[in-house]
Amino acid sequence: MSNSQVIPLSRPDISQGDIRAVTDVLRSGRLSLGPAMDTFEDMMAERVGSSDAVAVSSGTAGLHLILEALNVGPGDEVITPAFSFVASANCIEHAGATPVFVDCDPITLNVKAEDVEALITERTKAIIGVEVFGNPTGMRELAALSAKHEIPLIEDACEGLGGRIGDDAIGTFGRAAVFAFYPNKQITTGEGGMIVTNDTHLADACRSMRNHGRNMSSRTGPASTGTRLDVDRLGWNYRMSELHAALGVSQLSRLDQIMEQRSMVADTYTRELSKVSDLIVPTIGHDVTMSWFVYVVRLSAPYTQEDRNEIIDGLRRHDIGAANYFPAIHLFPHYQRKYGLSEGDFPVAESVSQRTIALPMFVGLTETEIKLVCQTLSLMMTRSRFRHED
Ligand SMILES: *Cc1c(COP(=O)(O)O)cnc(C)c1O
Repeated sequence: MSNSQVIPLSRPDISQGDIRAVTDVLRSGRLSLGPAMDTFEDMMAERVGSSDAVAVSSGTAGLHLILEALNVGPGDEVITPAFSFVASANCIEHAGATPVFVDCDPITLNVKAEDVEALITERTKAIIGVEVFGNPTGMRELAALSAKHEIPLIEDACEGLGGRIGDDAIGTFGRAAVFAFYPNKQITTGEGGMIVTNDTHLADACRSMRNHGRNMSSRTGPASTGTRLDVDRLGWNYRMSELHAALGVSQLSRLDQIMEQRSMVADTYTRELSKVSDLIVPTIGHDVTMSWFVYVVRLSAPYTQEDRNEIIDGLRRHDIGAANYFPAIHLFPHYQRKYGLSEGDFPVAESVSQRTIALPMFVGLTETEIKLVCQTLSLMMTRSRFRHED
């Protein structure tokens, strides 16, 4: 993430209260496995409406732990979107299982339940559902599919904190869900993640495995030290420090305000850009409350991937942050090589990923700045068309 741009792609919203929360931890002398993590977990569980929350060092760490807690491993298949952030598939590799990719819907950019169902085999041990760019459309259908086939749904909710379909909060559709707090997310802890679930047994397994597999007597502390019984199983160090957790508590207390301001940014973009021809703005279902993660537009068919790349370069030359969200996961060299995947395998994901442009989205982005971004985008699109007509 580069902040050298005049209008960056994203920028964390850090208040004086956030800074105080972190310095208070430094002064307290307790820097890990302490009260800030307990508070952050309690607040997250309450916000989402789940019985348990387990803080971890990243979103990816959380996804990996859930797969381990569900005993997903070598020989097992996990269905996951081709169009998502690469971590939605990497976690499956970490567990030693096999990712089975599924294409996306061209409008919602999320997977369709019927496409997932067609890929289910007797080896399918989990389905990973992602709210792409924060949009939960399709999650109810995935939850119904998961119930029908008795295959656990893991929600990669890393882009959706605070969003809902009707009264159903993102984070409550599956057996367990994960949120992430990298600096470009709605709220940040610098680095961090949070597992939420109503399955207390699964939560306890994750608590143990985030802390080297130690036998946990309380939420934060080991039962005993120095005995053979202390380490129950193989674990990792996926702990979240008290500094990160304190920042999370402070940020989470402002989530509604942050969501409202990001929503104003998104509405202004939609107003400014819906009339630009050959540009597709996000489609949001009428029953959806969006928690905006990024604002991603798409060029329509006359524009090629090269045009899109030139437009992104043009925006950057004008000091405006822009990026292609996301390259399709199955075309990354690791996945191509290991699973023999190639271009043409997931045509919708590929076509979408060749034409997306993520625009600046953060709290404090002004209407004047948004208009400048939109004007520059239109200008770059026009230039690209002219070049074609030559
Ligand atoms: C941000 C994100 C993650 C987790 O990222 P970390 O860097 O591990 O915190 C996972 N999946 C999706 C879809 C994401 O956007």
